[in-house]
Amino acid sequence: MPDTIVKVDLTQSPYENDMIHNRWHPDIPMVAWVKPGDDFIIETYDWTGGFIKNNNSADDVRDIDLSIVHFLSGPIGVKGAEPGDLLVVDLLDVGAMPNNQWGFNGFFSKKNGGGFLTDHFPLAQKSIWDFQGMFTKSRHVPGVNFAGLIHPGLIGCLPDHKLLDTWNEREIDFIATNPTRVPPLANPPFAPTAHMGRLKGEARDKAAATGARTVPPREHGGNCDIKDLSRGSKIYFPVYVEGGGLSMGDLHFSQGDGEITFCGAIEMAGWLHLKVDVIKDGVAKYGIKNPLFKPSPITPNYRDYLIFEGISVDEWGKQHYLDVHVAYRQACLNAIEYLTKFGYTKAQAYAILGTAPVQGHISGVVDIPNACATLWLPTEIFDFDIKPSAAGPTKFLDGSIDVPLSLDK
Ligand code: ZN
Repeated sequence: MPDTIVKVDLTQSPYENDMIHNRWHPDIPMVAWVKPGDDFIIETYDWTGGFIKNNNSADDVRDIDLSIVHFLSGPIGVKGAEPGDLLVVDLLDVGAMPNNQWGFNGFFSKKNGGGFLTDHFPLAQKSIWDFQGMFTKSRHVPGVNFAGLIHPGLIGCLPDHKLLDTWNEREIDFIATNPTRVPPLANPPFAPTAHMGRLKGEARDKAAATGARTVPPREHGGNCDIKDLSRGSKIYFPVYVEGGGLSMGDLHFSQGDGEITFCGAIEMAGWLHLKVDVIKDGVAKYGIKNPLFKPSPITPNYRDYLIFEGISVDEWGKQHYLDVHVAYRQACLNAIEYLTKFGYTKAQAYAILGTAPVQGHISGVVDIPNACATLWLPTEIFDFDIKPSAAGPTKFLDGSIDVPLSLDK
């Protein structure tokens, strides 16, 4: 068995584990060193560090302090990796914790985090998903059952000081363009809840004041939330500091393209079996700015989809210029409306789009003034036929079960 080089105890606060951190900063010390060619296991908390519980209330989703996320395992140093190299990471396998075979999906309150459809779902809601081997289903969303395309939502190398300064400057400048927006445009560094791993004393406090938040994807990868970055993938990361400093977390049992519910996919604690290697000077050799990856040889074998179109005219009738964000939102809203005809509540339908292996595609970005985006809903995940027919939709669900909702305080 390969060595487990980062261990987590899900009954312990992640703040008490010094192999965990929740900010990006070049001064965070490595928690372990490996050699090119080594394989090893890393355990992770779920992205909230255990804050969200397996129960039938969304109060935890409503009340969470989002400045605590994401709890990441690492950083791992790879001997010989230097700035300008590419760190090659094989995701040999990824799984849920053996004694924790469940995950959660939620929608944040518009006042605390929001999400892609927050104007339509402004209150906190949550669904719990139980795992049976590689499959999952939810007591809050009956009628669907699908195979997990398990992946880390968040993985990347530590930035150097120059890159960190670039991030902080551009995001703080961006926030200043509309500082009172709800939800905010971005999240600035926030020292009070920073977990800086093994960094101690004055150096720790200084780094906590400037450590980048883990929410956005950036040049180093980070919180990309790519469902296809699943077990079996091979990823190539730019290296910025000696040893690389590879960190990861935010494991997802399954996710739809876009992670549109934001809290988030099917979020879980788990483990990754990784192998690392180094391509010397690979950043310049291949002209790399952001990570790239090769997908897994294994993907869910869904062949049949209902594909919903959306254009860049918003739900209030306003025309937008080639705006893919607006177009994808329309495709998602169209799918939600359709699913309600079979008896799902809108919240259940939204939860399905956030968790099941739905595909999102950009179809056209040149046909002025409308962009076109599509949402691909696999028909085979449903226990009943969801295709249109002359007879019309049959209600398979009566709306008596729903995703728990919590009112704002
Ligand atoms: Zn996530």
